[in-house]
Amino acid sequence: MIKTGVMQMSNKTLSMTERLYDYLLSVSLREPELLRRLREETARDPHANMQIAPEQGQFMALLAELMGARRALEIGVYTGYSALWVARALPADGRLIACDVNAEWTATAQRYWEEAGVAHKIDLRLAPAAKTLDALLAGGEAGTFDFVFIDADKENYAHYYEQSLRLLRPGGLMAIDNVLWDGRVAEPEMSDSETEAIRSLNQKLLGDERISLSLVPVADGVTLALKRPARGAPAF
Ligand code: SAM
Ligand code: CA
Repeated sequence: MIKTGVMQMSNKTLSMTERLYDYLLSVSLREPELLRRLREETARDPHANMQIAPEQGQFMALLAELMGARRALEIGVYTGYSALWVARALPADGRLIACDVNAEWTATAQRYWEEAGVAHKIDLRLAPAAKTLDALLAGGEAGTFDFVFIDADKENYAHYYEQSLRLLRPGGLMAIDNVLWDGRVAEPEMSDSETEAIRSLNQKLLGDERISLSLVPVADGVTLALKRPARGAPAF
């Protein structure tokens, strides 16, 4: 703890109370009305907890904007909320390749992408994502993506990570969702396949010199992995 007058500030990430979370949203969330409507419609679906948090969507859109991303990839679309945030941040001639296997959920996504006027930027591929990524690699698209968001079946995360790293350009950014897995990754007695998959990827990334790394404790935890140039790591 650092003492500043009578105040104490933490040099650790804060535990988020409901009150503080509401405050955070009240002073920072700029969720467009259409995204809010999509979130409200999705909230009526029993799987709604699969959707990213609104502040996370805004954060990823900022990252895409910061990078001047033109080519993006999303693995795990659901009803299209995260894709819509990212697609809005791409330029008019930008492209988001969106991978999912579920036609019903992605029909909702497409409805909102149309209404938002970004459907022309989004190329939905309804197939197992590993196959879509293999097809992109086989089609000569390695090294061409600026931004990748991984948010599908957790058991395949390590595979998506390797494929995505090849698809990213040097300096390109990967965001990997749910890396804190509601705290279960830190509970040794949790040994289900999803928890193990996330835990093992987290451990692998720590030692992976091909990337610069940060685990951002927004929502359920998002790892940012920046693809380093082939010549190797910076000095830190
Ligand atoms: N990113 C979305 C959002 O924020 O609204 C949430 C994605 S949800 C957590 C995971 C999605 O991955 C589901 O829509 C599911 O159909 C899809 N999925 C599961 N297995 C898949 C696979 N093998 N290939 C592609 N998509 C898959
Ligand atoms: Ca997720």
